Amino acid sequence: MTVQWNHFIAGKEAKPLSGDYVHSFTPKDGETYAQVAKGSAPDVDSAVDAAASALKEWKSRKPIERGRILLAIAQKIREQSSELSQIECAETGKPGWQAPAEIEIAAQYFEFYGGLCNLFQGEKIDLGAGYHSYTVREPFGVVGVITPWNAPLNQAARGIAPALAVGNTVVSKPSEFTSGTTLAVAKLAVEECGLPPGVWNVVLGEGPECGAAIVSHPQVRKVAFTGSVRAGKEISHIAADRLIPLTLELGGKSPNIIFEDADLAQAIPGAIRGFIVNAGQICSAGTRLLVHSSIHDQVVSGLVEGLKQIKVGPGDDAMVGAITTQAQYERVKSYFDLAKQEGAVAQLGGQVENKDEYGGGWYLPLTVFTGVTNDMRIAQEEIFGPAIVVIPFESEDQAIAIANDTDYGLAAGLWTQNLSRAHRVAAELQAGQVFVNEYQAGGVETPFGGYKQSGYGREKGIEALHHYAQLKCVTIKL
Ligand code: NAD
Repeated sequence: MTVQWNHFIAGKEAKPLSGDYVHSFTPKDGETYAQVAKGSAPDVDSAVDAAASALKEWKSRKPIERGRILLAIAQKIREQSSELSQIECAETGKPGWQAPAEIEIAAQYFEFYGGLCNLFQGEKIDLGAGYHSYTVREPFGVVGVITPWNAPLNQAARGIAPALAVGNTVVSKPSEFTSGTTLAVAKLAVEECGLPPGVWNVVLGEGPECGAAIVSHPQVRKVAFTGSVRAGKEISHIAADRLIPLTLELGGKSPNIIFEDADLAQAIPGAIRGFIVNAGQICSAGTRLLVHSSIHDQVVSGLVEGLKQIKVGPGDDAMVGAITTQAQYERVKSYFDLAKQEGAVAQLGGQVENKDEYGGGWYLPLTVFTGVTNDMRIAQEEIFGPAIVVIPFESEDQAIAIANDTDYGLAAGLWTQNLSRAHRVAAELQAGQVFVNEYQAGGVETPFGGYKQSGYGREKGIEALHHYAQLKCVTIKL
């Protein structure tokens, strides 16, 4: 039996004005999971009207009161973790162990920004006697938050919590493939946590129609977008015409460098975790493994042996789950074919042996390609699946040059026991995040965002609050 997801506008469920729905699917078996409202401009108009009407009251609240509501949302997410995890697993194909961990991170975003509400203040500027000058951090107004399918609730919370903390109201649009958890938490926030109706609205539907209508809406004053470079560029054209600020969190092809002095007992499992989590569907995954030539063969055999121990599939004992959409499943397979054409060698995986093994679900084998040079497409393009390319290097300078030879700049990792090298290389890497001796180190507290084609603006950390606020300076002649 399929469920039906409708918009959530002004604290109430709202059917799409067109009456149209699209389907989302369960990656575990490819069956239809939900009928999802196919939102269009008139639905977005209602949601923006609701958000605009709720703005004055929400932004005038004492920050500590906004914070209290955000903390209540965090608490509610934790209480509902198992229900939310079930939806998230069904829609994304994540294994059972993983969804609760991501739901917990979503709770932490509300907790972190709820706690910061009262600390995010303006400053007094000393102009000497005769003047009183100060800054005020004000919300933009109605903010659009558009998110992808790979970590649905976690990424929605990452944008919505700081936006609300500053006093903005929100129209959010989750991916049409994974609408359930964002919708569920918005409802809980209003119905059980004291968030006033209209402060957080959710519209559902497809990107070019519903997402673009949010960015184009004259009352939307800022947009936070997480997704592909393609859509990011389309959105930035609309935003440029309207002169509204954007936060763009886009894709990556992040280098993970293992130097010859690394502790391989840490680095090899770290490199594995760095690309297999969420079946490789993580923007910051370490999918270009740069390895010093003196340890190349040792690292490759360690990777292959380690990966052979990891179970992929639909069962509760699996470490790695499905590819979330059929289109993405086909896309990753096309990169397996491309790798062969480019002359790479699959040391593990690289083709689907027997799809029936997984009951028809969208599962792909953990894959290691060697014989790769950095100019190949499989080394330059984001595959967004459980595949890593291994590229040897001879010197520190060459490792840095290869690492930076990409259009992307989201994250980079390095493994070394030499502290000076760690700082030296971190300083040279063109990436918004650099991880040393633990790939994906950090938390909701650490700012996150891209260099180059990986986007601009920052989410997470105190830094994100600045991207949801505009600064006013008031100067008074006394
Ligand atoms: P996508 O760009 O297709 O879709 C993302 C969201 O944007 C969805 O809600 C979609 O409906 C909407 N959208 C699509 N086209 C749009 C348009 N023209 N106008 C407005 N909205 C539009 O991306 P995806 O396939 O859902 O997600 C995968 C991509 O997201 C990967 O490239 C991945 O690297 C990236 N990503 C980045 C981060 C990050 O923090 N940097 C995090 C997760 C995913």
